[in-house]
Amino acid sequence: MPAKIRCPTCGRPVAWTTQSPFRPFCSERCKLIDLGEWLTDGYRIPDPGDSPRDDPPPSEEQLPIH
Ligand SMILES: [Zn+2]
Repeated sequence: MPAKIRCPTCGRPVAWTTQSPFRPFCSERCKLIDLGEWLTDGYRIPDPGDSPRDDPPPSEEQLPIH
């Protein structure tokens, strides 16, 4: 009996099996929607007047180059 999870995008039950290639999403569409929201959030320019967190951004490009 396969485990079931819920699609993070739409909340539909998804069977956690190899038959669900887009798990934890129910479909490619939901996967792309979630990915798109994540990317959009990453590209959003922080509002200086509304920034609850002050985490530094990923600094891979700040490493010294030899
Ligand atoms: Zn879904």
